[in-house]
Amino acid sequence: MKKINQVNGIPLHYARLTNHPYGTRGEQRDFLIEESFFKVLEQALQEVFENCPLGVPEVITTAGIFVNKPGQHGHGKAFDLDAIFWKDKTLVTMNFVHQKELYLGIESFLRKHFGIVLNYHYPNHKDHWHVDTSVPVDYNENSKSETLYLQLVLKHIYKEEILVDGIWGRQTAGVVKEVFNKLRINTPITTKKNYLQFLEITGKIAFKLCEEQISATHLLDNLTEVIEDLPEQNRITVREAFNSFLDHNDTAQWLNTIKEEHDIDSLIDSFII
Ligand SMILES: [Zn+2]
Repeated sequence: MKKINQVNGIPLHYARLTNHPYGTRGEQRDFLIEESFFKVLEQALQEVFENCPLGVPEVITTAGIFVNKPGQHGHGKAFDLDAIFWKDKTLVTMNFVHQKELYLGIESFLRKHFGIVLNYHYPNHKDHWHVDTSVPVDYNENSKSETLYLQLVLKHIYKEEILVDGIWGRQTAGVVKEVFNKLRINTPITTKKNYLQFLEITGKIAFKLCEEQISATHLLDNLTEVIEDLPEQNRITVREAFNSFLDHNDTAQWLNTIKEEHDIDSLIDSFII
């Protein structure tokens, strides 16, 4: 076990305290980590930030590495990533709903290094990614967390109509075939080489999408999703207030002037030769 307070020179902070609550930069701390796992973490974050258009961040907050409990945390071989802080931009994992492109870009590269990645849609992981190396990197149709990731990128990055339920079925299989064809990646996805190729190109496309100007209608869609995610007693009031804004004549006129231009196919083409 090794004591660390940074990864690749990026300070590791803790922000789950009354005076440093979740979502803030928190304060730098020492964390115990198993040495071979630390190497994987270094390589993974190196690749994430080499590809991420925002570059190397100033701070990463973690909910913990070595934790005295059963499982990979008990061996110092798991990492919980809460948030990433760049100079002018922050990704808080809890904000998945309106930072999907950046979130899924980062997760695509994390998955190239960690066999287990539990994300926002996985039960009890809305406020952090859990990553560990207890299983090898590959795609398993029975894995709920891998299928959730797959369906999320098919829906939000490749703009396919698909239900995100974590269950591999005929619909998911069909959409995978279609998207892999477009990307000119061989199937099946369960072959490690094909899966790694998919992760790499998906990460790059997601990062490209988060660099593009996001349209006002896309932001309104995000807002609608955030509202639908609220606890019921708040949801109804906020939804009604939002709808009366949308129904206003001036809003409706303004929305009619916005053209949604999103050509994912030509973006894909720019990534494959
Ligand atoms: Zn964890």
